[in-house]
Amino acid sequence: MTNDPGKINCADFQAKLPDLIGSGANASAHPHIQSCELCRALLADLETIAEAARQLFPVVDPPEDLWAHIESAIKNEDGGSNVSHAASITH
Ligand SMILES: [Zn+2]
Repeated sequence: MTNDPGKINCADFQAKLPDLIGSGANASAHPHIQSCELCRALLADLETIAEAARQLFPVVDPPEDLWAHIESAIKNEDGGSNVSHAASITH
């Protein structure tokens, strides 16, 4: 039986896996990985994919004026219809 409260099943582990990886935790040190060959292989695959993705899509900082461009684009699209509404909120 797999009712040991200290253990989780593959579905539970795999549901937590993205969080583990995303939080920077060492997923390969998880007790389930130690005892489950299936999930160990899955984790290896995920890490290979993640590594490939990092090389294909390196994280770049958005240019500092990006938000300003977005903001002005929103304002232009809006046509100023929210101006009177905003004024009423601030008494
Ligand atoms: Zn498993």
